[in-house]
Amino acid sequence: MILDGKTTAADIRAALREEIEKDREKAGRAPCLAVVLVGEDPASQVYVRNKEKACADAGIETVSYRKPASMPQKELEEFIASLNADSAIDGILLQLPLPEGLDERPCIDAISPEKDVDGLTAVNQGRVAMNVPGLRPCTPAGILALLDRYGISVSGKKAVVIGRSNLVGRPIALMLGSRDYNATVTMCHSRTPDLAAVCREADVIVAALGKPRFVTADMVKPGAVIIDVGINRGEDGKLCGDVDYDNVAPIASAITPVPGGIGPMTISQLLVNTTKAWRAKLLSA
Ligand code: NAP
Repeated sequence: MILDGKTTAADIRAALREEIEKDREKAGRAPCLAVVLVGEDPASQVYVRNKEKACADAGIETVSYRKPASMPQKELEEFIASLNADSAIDGILLQLPLPEGLDERPCIDAISPEKDVDGLTAVNQGRVAMNVPGLRPCTPAGILALLDRYGISVSGKKAVVIGRSNLVGRPIALMLGSRDYNATVTMCHSRTPDLAAVCREADVIVAALGKPRFVTADMVKPGAVIIDVGINRGEDGKLCGDVDYDNVAPIASAITPVPGGIGPMTISQLLVNTTKAWRAKLLSA
């Protein structure tokens, strides 16, 4: 079974559009996302454009701020604080990575947790660890939404997560192992000995390491569910994931393609989080 993130994300956008349309009048306005891009990184420009397009499709307004790479740290933090104080803005997206010379962590943590629609502030990451409500990081939330859409339960299953970043590996490992999902999770990294043997035990593999076609068929138990988070350029110049798709797909019970898998799901969760932040501010009373 191919887990189609593109179609699922389109369905999520359509449902959000309906939800926003229904409650827009009561809220007084549509949800609004501030998009902050610092510097001129071409890949970031593409990502930001895609996110803005997806917002428009769901009926979410965006306000774009393009800042020079030379912007001083303090000024960027103050600018984020001004967006926190702006009642017309529900969510703040600070496109990463920041240009060299800017320290990401204080900039991320300058975002109010209630407007942190990427779920990357220390507060929202802590909420993941404690499994209490909060805005969840988009890629892990997108993975869980896709599993849910296909009726795949991980409860009681052995899950292996390859990668331990704050963006993907660590939060998805915590979420899969939470009381809500009940998988038994092993979180692997570059110092894990005999990773292939660890993977062969897994009922579910989440590959989030950023190495083209790293997970090969001999590392996969027949029938395993394979979630490929990686976005890489292979030696052939083609876009590919962290999984050797052509050889792994025939033995997996379910697998996400690259592109068209977790990428669009990640963007859809940004929209879900922005709508949640809007609802919490304007409709929760
Ligand atoms: P990252 O911050 O570079 O983290 C990579 C993780 O993989 C690290 O924990 C690293 O271990 C581990 N790792 C690296 N080489 C390994 C190896 N040979 N064996 C085992 N573990 C290894 O990357 P990230 O931000 O999590 O992103 C991972 C991938 O997902 C990238 O390709 C990125 O482009 C992609 N991504 C996609 C989406 C999407 O929307 N689809 C979203 C976010 C990221 P150490 O901790 O020991 O260094």
